[in-house]
Amino acid sequence: MRLLIASNSQHKIREIRQILAPYYPDIQGLREAGLDIEVVEDGNSFAENAWKKASQVSQATGFAALADDSGLCVDTLDGAPGIYSARFSGVHGDDQANNRLLLERLAGKPRPWTARYACAIALCRPGLPPIQVEAYCQGEILPEYRGNGGFGYDPLFLPAGCTETFAQMDAAQKNRISHRAKALALLLQALESEARA
Ligand code: IMP
Repeated sequence: MRLLIASNSQHKIREIRQILAPYYPDIQGLREAGLDIEVVEDGNSFAENAWKKASQVSQATGFAALADDSGLCVDTLDGAPGIYSARFSGVHGDDQANNRLLLERLAGKPRPWTARYACAIALCRPGLPPIQVEAYCQGEILPEYRGNGGFGYDPLFLPAGCTETFAQMDAAQKNRISHRAKALALLLQALESEARA
């Protein structure tokens, strides 16, 4: 069965594909599927935005669609950048500018700068009930960059109990503990219990 990922972010699509490949061998991002669908992400929560993306893409195409909405929530910044993580600096997807602004906002605040990544996932399938899940990865923001892997805020994010940032880990390590991996595990549990019912 084909599963569309309601995203054009190659980083996200790669991570989702790595984790879901055993269950959904035919996974495509919007661009790969030749689709040009812009969903306005104007919800007030990660869950609302994930729902908007998945439901609109599934309705427009007639295929099952999965959307992830994710971001970084820093405690001492009252949860910012939160749902604005991708465009924190004002330019959508400018990871360097977003990281710079994050460090600027944190400068002078007492450490540790505790934070968590959040990931909400919605799966919409024609004729079947939708599934929505949300998961987190706790950690802290470091004052300096470490590592070249991952994407987004990964060089600054040290997961709790780890000695390496997400950007220092290889993909398999990140995919064992990340917010996205945990949300996908919850989704798989829901699909498995649905299949058993
Ligand atoms: P979205 O595409 O609207 O869900 O925005 C996600 C944004 O949150 C990304 O552009 C990153 O800035 C941040 N983000 C979400 N997940 C991760 C991750 O696993 N690593 C690094 N940054 C992430």
